Amino acid sequence: MSMSRIVYVNGEYLPETDAKISVFDRGFLMADAVYEVTSIIDGKILAFDGHTERLERSLSELDMKAPCSIDELLDIHRELIKRNNLTEGLVYLQVTRGIADRDFAYPDVEPSLVLFTQAKNVVNSPIAKTGMKVISIPDIRWGRRDIKTVQLLAPSMGKMAAKAAGCDDAWLVEDGFVTEGTSNNAYIVTAEGTIVTRNLGTEILAGITRAAVLRYASEAQIKIEERPFTIEEAQAAKEAFVTSATTFVGPVIEIDGAQIGDGKVGDIARRLREIYLEESLKTAI
Ligand code: PMP
Repeated sequence: MSMSRIVYVNGEYLPETDAKISVFDRGFLMADAVYEVTSIIDGKILAFDGHTERLERSLSELDMKAPCSIDELLDIHRELIKRNNLTEGLVYLQVTRGIADRDFAYPDVEPSLVLFTQAKNVVNSPIAKTGMKVISIPDIRWGRRDIKTVQLLAPSMGKMAAKAAGCDDAWLVEDGFVTEGTSNNAYIVTAEGTIVTRNLGTEILAGITRAAVLRYASEAQIKIEERPFTIEEAQAAKEAFVTSATTFVGPVIEIDGAQIGDGKVGDIARRLREIYLEESLKTAI
């Protein structure tokens, strides 16, 4: 961990060692908090509007107050990027319901807002070149995965299971069908070249990258089917990949030990990654 970062906490820009949150903060006690992660390239924020729209939706689904306006959020992002000389990486943002005596009922208090930066090579990530190996595991998460809460223990356990198996990530399976990855949306490409990805609902997070990638795929005349698929169908697919704000399009070359296609990064995944990067840089702010 870099100990020299400046982080934002409730109106203040502080060295990370001085940035503190109360033990009575409901984010800490009850995971009563939502978050967003955006990628930064050349000091600019990718897909800011999409992420703040989803943040507003997460807040509203939980009857949580917004900590400030979207314009103020943009100012905070920019100030933090500047103060940390961040050219490439990510900004993490978290809103918690706030600080109150422990009680299951929501208190009427002011929300807490925390943002920090993380330097990272998001463009030239090794996974984009080599592809990733995934395992499948049961999806043990709660029923409102459409809300981006900080309850990340189940995905953390999934990531550890993947590591223990010598793999990079896990795909989560519910009632025989893949929901999504631990921190990304999951896709396969059929022999006919059709992209298949789980339809939106409370079972998965509506990825901001997912929306953009499906739009670019459809503009490139690639057929799309939004429906559940099984691990068996995925293992027999021509290609597989994931999307997220920080992975962009991440090729998958192995699922539960079965090689996907020729075991190399797929053409559609590579092309969509290029298009995504090129297009999202045009709207970066
Ligand atoms: N699903 C889950 C469970 C995630 O955690 C993420 C990453 N936040 C995604 C999908 C991808 O969403 P996005 O493209 O907005 O990063």
